[in-house]
Amino acid sequence: MRVGVIGGGQLARMMIPAAIELGVDLRVLAEAEGMAAGLAADRVGDYADAGTVLEFASTVDVVTFDHEHVPQDVLRALVDAGIAVRPGPDALRFAQDKLLMRERLSELGLPVPDWARVETTAELDAFIRDHGGAAVVKTPRGGYDGKGVRVVRSSGEVAEWFAAIAEDGRAGALLVEELVDFKRELAQLVARRPSGEVVAWPLVETVQVGGVCSEVIAPAPRSAGRIADVAAEVAISIAEGLGVTGVMAVELFETTDERVLVNELAMRPHNSGHWSMDGATTGQFEQHLRAVLDLPLGGTGTHRPWSVMVNILGGPAEGSLAERYVGAMTEHPTAKIHNYGKDPRPGRKVGHVTAIGDELDDVVYEARAAAAAFEG
Ligand code: ADP
Repeated sequence: MRVGVIGGGQLARMMIPAAIELGVDLRVLAEAEGMAAGLAADRVGDYADAGTVLEFASTVDVVTFDHEHVPQDVLRALVDAGIAVRPGPDALRFAQDKLLMRERLSELGLPVPDWARVETTAELDAFIRDHGGAAVVKTPRGGYDGKGVRVVRSSGEVAEWFAAIAEDGRAGALLVEELVDFKRELAQLVARRPSGEVVAWPLVETVQVGGVCSEVIAPAPRSAGRIADVAAEVAISIAEGLGVTGVMAVELFETTDERVLVNELAMRPHNSGHWSMDGATTGQFEQHLRAVLDLPLGGTGTHRPWSVMVNILGGPAEGSLAERYVGAMTEHPTAKIHNYGKDPRPGRKVGHVTAIGDELDDVVYEARAAAAAFEG
């Protein structure tokens, strides 16, 4: 069983130990030398070049992804060549384009923020006026970690995005959404096999700082009952409705009036699921490989009542990551410290820490303290 992963970042890297345990031969097409998944990268090349990707794909049984940026024409060329692409292009396009995603989820009757497709500043100003004077504008494609998302009170605040659409030539548009008054952000992770089996992990709470995920608490505190049931139902409906295969994360808002709304989809293992590597019977990277290979899926129950994951962003202000790593290990032997082998840069995700245990306060403390010791 050979799985080819397009993209050499930390998500591909964390599939490597899972592949070893499953007896799966994992190969990575990395964007450059020396990436996080370099250990399994037997090729380096451009994922937007059909020839490069086809040649890589011909060496494996199934192709999957570390990111969602492979262009549709390249994905279609793989399918036309008879290659198993999981998730396939018909599903992946909804993770690549936020406007398409909003349209499709609305058609499926799933709960989303009020939204519109806007092509002109007048349309945007009208939407803002109708929604209490503020709205969230998003570029449909290419955004990540909050880039391409802006809260605005007038169309002038995204003038350069309108200018970019005009230059683009293709009938471009922006996505505008109501500014959701949310209590907190949640994420529901699911996995689906091509033959139909779907499993869901417990609903988690995600904490973002400056548009970047900083902490995840599993399960989401005070989420037992209705909220957890709704989130799992919504995520399973999306996985089935869009024909997703592999792991998918659904980012959600819990509103102040107790509704659950879908924000975003990620059709691959996701930062909100890192806790599952150490906190659940089956971690998301193992599950992703099982799912894309159409193998039976593993249990999603937790080892302990609480798991808390804290991202390491940027790395140490002084001293090397390696020194910090040793310090964090020494002081926090019960925390699981993951190092992605990346050079620290401000704001860059270079690792994460997971702690598990019985008392939420203790687990939060341990995860944060170990992350701080690593981060410096
Ligand atoms: P990205 O694709 O860059 O991760 P998202 O669409 O997830 O962008 O938005 C990033 C963050 O912006 C979200 O985690 C949330 O905190 C905030 N946000 C996004 N959409 C809305 C909205 N409609 N209302 C309020 N906040 C929002």
